[in-house]
Amino acid sequence: MSEPSYKCPKCGGSNFKHWELPHPVILHWILNPGAVFNELVLGQRMPKISLICQDCEGPLMDRSYTPCPSCGAMHLGRLSSGKEAFFKWRGASCPSCGEAIPCLWNVFSLLVLLVTFPIWSLPYFLYFRKKPLKPLYPMVEGKPPTPKAVTKKTWIYMGAGFGAVMFIFLSLLPFLIGYGDGDIWASAISGLTGGIIGGIGFGFFMWFFLGRRKKGIAS
Ligand SMILES: [Zn+2]
Ligand SMILES: [Zn+2]
Repeated sequence: MSEPSYKCPKCGGSNFKHWELPHPVILHWILNPGAVFNELVLGQRMPKISLICQDCEGPLMDRSYTPCPSCGAMHLGRLSSGKEAFFKWRGASCPSCGEAIPCLWNVFSLLVLLVTFPIWSLPYFLYFRKKPLKPLYPMVEGKPPTPKAVTKKTWIYMGAGFGAVMFIFLSLLPFLIGYGDGDIWASAISGLTGGIIGGIGFGFFMWFFLGRRKKGIAS
């Protein structure tokens, strides 16, 4: 990377693992058609670059930062998760300097935006474009807030939230694509099954990748 000046706010080190193209996590966000829902409906945007400190100990989510290319601030990635992750359709700004944080676009989102251009372009250019971007997370008295402690509940809530969205989506899908013959119960049951399995899977996946304690320094 061209900016070697980023320093870990916790340990002062600059030994980072880079999550940027072509890292699989980033590729997945760009190529997975499911991300269209996150980006265009929920307004969830993923920063182009995440830096993961290799010298700090602890779970991944305590070592993962979103760097600001304008002021060099390192924002703990976890502070912009949860409810702070949403309603950022146009991207996010740096809570320290207010400049835009470069974010990714999913290719299918871009396709949808291209096709629907006549619908959103006018309100966008006349109104939304001039609005300030939502910051990655709100500052508390000029300082980043203290992140909440992570407990078992965190993963359960994460899984339950994901499962609930999946339940709604799967239950409504047959009606949305038009081959539901009106049996809302059958549809709701398959949605519930999918939601529970998906929710447990997602909660486990998040814990596995973000929450496990890192053993020693090697990763
Ligand atoms: Zn560190
Ligand atoms: Zn900044």
